[in-house]
Amino acid sequence: MDIKDAQNKIREFDKVRGWEDSWNLKDLSLNITEEVGEFWNLIKWIDDDKQREVIEKNRIEVSDFIGDTLFLLLKIANQTKVNASLSLQNTLDEYEKRMPSSKMKEVGHANKLAGGFDNKFK
Ligand SMILES: [Mg+2]
Repeated sequence: MDIKDAQNKIREFDKVRGWEDSWNLKDLSLNITEEVGEFWNLIKWIDDDKQREVIEKNRIEVSDFIGDTLFLLLKIANQTKVNASLSLQNTLDEYEKRMPSSKMKEVGHANKLAGGFDNKFK
């Protein structure tokens, strides 16, 4: 299922329950933090190697975290009439500009999440 299909499926899920006009962005946002907290509880205060081990032993919980969080994000996309597929493409395009692979290999350091490269480490 691609992102557009998932967004449509969630819209239909809400529609058949009479929830298509509900507006609960605050609750949805808070619910995402709850999901992140559940994931955080798996991996907090342990180093990267131990995290890999914990993740391997908790595949179902990790999958639930991803599914639950995507569901909530796509509900927000529906309520705010945002094309989530386009949003993700825009983000990837922006990150490609901020963190070009050639530059990343050159500086050898970057905020791998979103920050881009930092010349002070040259
Ligand atoms: Mg959950």
